[in-house]
Amino acid sequence: MAPVFQDNELSMHPAWMEFDLDALAANYAELQQRAGPNVRIIASLKANAYGHGIVAVAKVLSDLDAFAISTGSFRDAVAVRDAGITMPILMFGGNLPAGIAEYLRYDLIPTVYNMETARAVSEATSGPTPVYIKVDAGMGRLGIAPQQAEAFIRAVVELPHIIVEGVYTHLSFKDAAGQEWSRQGIGRFNALIASLRQNGLDIPVTQAVASSNLMVGQMDDCNAICPGHLLYGLASVAPGLADIAPFEPVLHAIKARLIHIGTFPNDPALKTGGYHVKRQGTRTGVVPLGLFDGYRKPRAGAPAAVLLKGRRLPVLGVSLEHLTFDLCDLEDVAIGDEVVILGNDGDDRITLAELADWQGCGVLDVLMNFDGRLPRRYTPRSRPQPYLSNEFSP
Ligand SMILES: *Cc1c(COP(=O)(O)O)cnc(C)c1O
Repeated sequence: MAPVFQDNELSMHPAWMEFDLDALAANYAELQQRAGPNVRIIASLKANAYGHGIVAVAKVLSDLDAFAISTGSFRDAVAVRDAGITMPILMFGGNLPAGIAEYLRYDLIPTVYNMETARAVSEATSGPTPVYIKVDAGMGRLGIAPQQAEAFIRAVVELPHIIVEGVYTHLSFKDAAGQEWSRQGIGRFNALIASLRQNGLDIPVTQAVASSNLMVGQMDDCNAICPGHLLYGLASVAPGLADIAPFEPVLHAIKARLIHIGTFPNDPALKTGGYHVKRQGTRTGVVPLGLFDGYRKPRAGAPAAVLLKGRRLPVLGVSLEHLTFDLCDLEDVAIGDEVVILGNDGDDRITLAELADWQGCGVLDVLMNFDGRLPRRYTPRSRPQPYLSNEFSP
């Protein structure tokens, strides 16, 4: 089989991630379909687009004319602007009032939930400047309490140069108890929006629904949604709770090439007196992908494996820069063969959920561990050739 990459970089360190940008476009279309034609999508691209690479993801959404993208990372937002993308970027927070002037310099829309930040926006600008207001409808994280929101919005609107363009909240949950809690939060938020409108404060963009709400069919009276997980084909609620089919995973594979085949004499003396006994009397394969690249040590007893030629082969050890696995009785392997760490091979498949389970963490942890470490390969069907981004960080 011809190597997938001619690229020099990957001969030097053959380990990479593959992303399917057409799956992203399909997920976006599915979200728009579910939300309806009059509902705007503010796509959540926080944490480097959940580890998928913010510039590549933002380009797709900009080409699809998405209403806006959002993140809490100033560095990521600047990377999007530096790539020439001019779509609206809502900043979730994550800044001090002193940072506002820089936000405005990059045409980023600040979120405001205290007077300090509101005043900083007003003082940093001389023309009409949009802000969003965040309400804390129950998460206990960022935002102004619903009871104080109306008075707060009124005070912010009075400040020179500020346009309150949006008001939003976030209600993240995983299970049935969370679903009920979120239902109440949405009720409180709906009541706030209704009251604002009644009292003459008609704010153009209102938003509360994110992936978990969409997964259980929980909608509101707002005119925008802010999904993250679903855009990337990730589930945000427990299996069984969702009443929709999973979206397509955008992270399609993590792969590496075999750099070494170890053979060990089946010597009983070595075994009994040996130290790394698991590796004796077997053939091992090694790929250049270890802790440094984002692969965490599997918890004790986890059936961690890789796929090679459609076979599921047990992981024997993970060190800083290498992963060693058991070749078992697999014949016909050669240096340079493609080893699947995540994704499909033959009829088998290692899912992100499975990898997270072996590593004793959640899927976001796995994504964050890999983020910015391996080269990313993006494969949009709309382009004739897959291309490789050596975007190690955004
Ligand atoms: C992360 C986030 C979202 C998106 O949440 P998902 O569960 O990934 O859909 C929406 N709004 C805010 C404020 C967020 O922080």
